[in-house]
Amino acid sequence: MNNVVMKFGGTSVADADAIRRLVEIVRGEARRTGAPPVVVVSAMSKVTDAVLRMASEAATGQRETITAGVDELRQRHLTVAEALVPAAQRGPLVEQLEQQISELRAMLTALSILREASPRSLDGVASAGELLSSRVVAGALAASGFDAVWVDARRAIVTDDQYTVAAPLTAETEAALAREVTPHLAAGRLPVLGGYVGATKEGVATTLGRGGSDYSAAIIGAGIDVAEIQIWTDVDGMLTADPRVVDTPRVVSHLSFGEASELAYFGAKVLHPSTILPAVAKDIPVRILNSRKPQVAGTMITATPPRNERPITALACKRNVTVVEVTSTRMLMAHGFLRRLFEVFERYRTAVDVVTTSEVSVSVTIDDNRRIGDIAHDLREFAEVAIEPEMALLCAVGENLRSDPAFAIRMLAGLDGIALRMVSQAASRRNVTVVLRDADVALAMSQLHDAWFAQPETPKPLEAVR
Ligand code: ADP
Ligand code: ASP
Ligand code: MG
Repeated sequence: MNNVVMKFGGTSVADADAIRRLVEIVRGEARRTGAPPVVVVSAMSKVTDAVLRMASEAATGQRETITAGVDELRQRHLTVAEALVPAAQRGPLVEQLEQQISELRAMLTALSILREASPRSLDGVASAGELLSSRVVAGALAASGFDAVWVDARRAIVTDDQYTVAAPLTAETEAALAREVTPHLAAGRLPVLGGYVGATKEGVATTLGRGGSDYSAAIIGAGIDVAEIQIWTDVDGMLTADPRVVDTPRVVSHLSFGEASELAYFGAKVLHPSTILPAVAKDIPVRILNSRKPQVAGTMITATPPRNERPITALACKRNVTVVEVTSTRMLMAHGFLRRLFEVFERYRTAVDVVTTSEVSVSVTIDDNRRIGDIAHDLREFAEVAIEPEMALLCAVGENLRSDPAFAIRMLAGLDGIALRMVSQAASRRNVTVVLRDADVALAMSQLHDAWFAQPETPKPLEAVR
């Protein structure tokens, strides 16, 4: 198919001006490809944080904040709808927004009465952000002359019931997309969906994990086999370092699927870590683009990008992770020890990122430390445990590392003077990761970035790379 999926993140739908830019970008793509795209949008910026905060306040019985919080969200969406859709066409949209807002208010009130916020109820609340924003964007596109139709993501993406981190069910989702999305495209209509949101087979709303709209776009793109998945965001593409940490990162023009996955997994927030999986399955290119600078080429992610000359492709960091060091002089060499150790993390559904071992100890890092008390308690049944909070992962990624056996040594030399807690090189040899104090990560990343990315690359226009 010629169709593309275009995903716009929170800042790219934040207000009326942002949505006007979105409309023009969509117009350009529809013209270029000669086919309507599928548009996937995030909640307006900060809305997901706001509704989740309201849910946890409601669960602790703070009912007063619900009214003000929901009123503010209502006003924000109605104001944008008024700015983008002429009064004569606005009636049905306003009604749908009001309906969604009332549902949100009712859910929050229920949580405040029950004093609970289970993962399942949180997903009901969290899905409101994307359901609202996608209605507004569909309305704005329709008002600008597109034959745009709103598609309920809860009917298009079928997931398991791991609420707040649900995984898509591939066969069921393909069938749902064939029913809910493909017929619109075939008829020349432009489908608009909220990202991040899905539903179980029974139709209960789920979410794909924070930042999950990228993943939705890829699931939809792979499900209907589009020509390209576009992630429109607020930076020029995948950058050589985290722009919140390093002042002058550069755009990486091409990445492999493998490099993009590693960078996303190790903290490059511009992509949700699962985004690449559906793209790999169908070999669909993913492009990251800046919705404020639509003429700039951005980053292209494919299976086999052209070779670049740099020793590494990019750096990423994951901040505020926790190191758990498990020591057992008696048991480490005994078989079964590692199984027992990892079973504890599994019991508390806590993912481990980096692992290193010595004769008497195993150190692991975890990102989510909500269950750390339980984890430490269970580990102490058979080992000594030391917890180090406020640590960070710093990761160098690149296909070229495979053919550069001395890279790790140069990386460590480049970090001279900074205390490293763990070092790991994956067997794929596509990444080298160090664990250090969070307070040192800015200096460490800048030092490595200065060493490897001193030469700026001039961004190319998008037209030049098509
Ligand atoms: P969106 O709302 O469009 O999904 P996100 O905030 O989720 O946007 O992701 C974009 C942000 O990711 C950027 O503003 C930037 O701060 C952050 N980021 C972290 N690492 C990188 C990186 N290597 N390249 C680009 N952006 C990065
Ligand atoms: N709105 C969701 C979040 O803030 C999903 C996304 O933006 O991708 O996590
Ligand atoms: Mg995001």
